Amino acid sequence: MTWASTIAGSITTPNQSSRYGRKITGWIIHHNAALGGAGVLEMMRTGSKQVSANYQVMQDGDVWGVVPRENRSWSASNADWDAASLTFEIANDSLAPGWTISDRAYERVARTIAEDARWAGIPINRQTVRGHREGSALGDGGSYSTACPGGIDLDRLVGLAQKFSGSSLAGGDPSSIEEIPMPALIRHPNGSIGFVSDAGELDAISTLNEVESLKAVGLVGNWVQLPDKNIWDTLTARTARLRAQRATPGADVDEAAIVAGIAPLLIPAVVEALKGVGSGLTAEQVKAATEAAVRAVFADAAS
Ligand SMILES: [Zn+2]
Repeated sequence: MTWASTIAGSITTPNQSSRYGRKITGWIIHHNAALGGAGVLEMMRTGSKQVSANYQVMQDGDVWGVVPRENRSWSASNADWDAASLTFEIANDSLAPGWTISDRAYERVARTIAEDARWAGIPINRQTVRGHREGSALGDGGSYSTACPGGIDLDRLVGLAQKFSGSSLAGGDPSSIEEIPMPALIRHPNGSIGFVSDAGELDAISTLNEVESLKAVGLVGNWVQLPDKNIWDTLTARTARLRAQRATPGADVDEAAIVAGIAPLLIPAVVEALKGVGSGLTAEQVKAATEAAVRAVFADAAS
């Protein structure tokens, strides 16, 4: 059970599992969304919350070993993605709206990535080093919609890590990095607003405050008014299916919470469909029927 030689120290945590033979293919970068780092390290040590990372990095840049490289950390609510990744949680040195990390944190994390690239035999580039919110944008398992890793400049981190690793394993031509589409807010013709994550998942937005906070962390670049509801329906179906697949046994996901999260997306469509029939159902009945429909999607995805 090992870490890179760059660590300042290590702790033990109950929050870890086997990789079950899964080969490591890359890194996931998270920010703590908090200053310092000691609080997060202590939370991982005690297991008071079911989260962990292979490395917790303090605001001053010291890297702590938490889950040994050989094991899977619990970083992204996605067993598959975590099992194939080396994961970093990094304390911020400023809070909203910048959510930056310190220069020394960039340097220490980059050196750690450079060493672990040799250890795992994988290249360092923007396909292998991904921020949490980039989720499944590059096709390797997703996550829920999140602003994480805040203002961490992943291009800078990758550039530094490539420099430290020398050219032999750096891999990937920086000029060929794929642009990751900026997430957008979309508006259904009936007025509903949804946030489309990099991973292509749709989350319903219920208040203007949510819109403002997404703008504040730089997560939303533009508004798209849909000409008709086809795109909305497609995204809703895709999101439901992705979440249902993720909630199959062993994926560390709370199925009831996901049902509650998906149902509101479907309610406008169900209400609209019922209008034509003149069913006279109450909003509560529509909600119950919608949740039942979402459970059916889960059952379908699990089979
Ligand atoms: Zn994260």
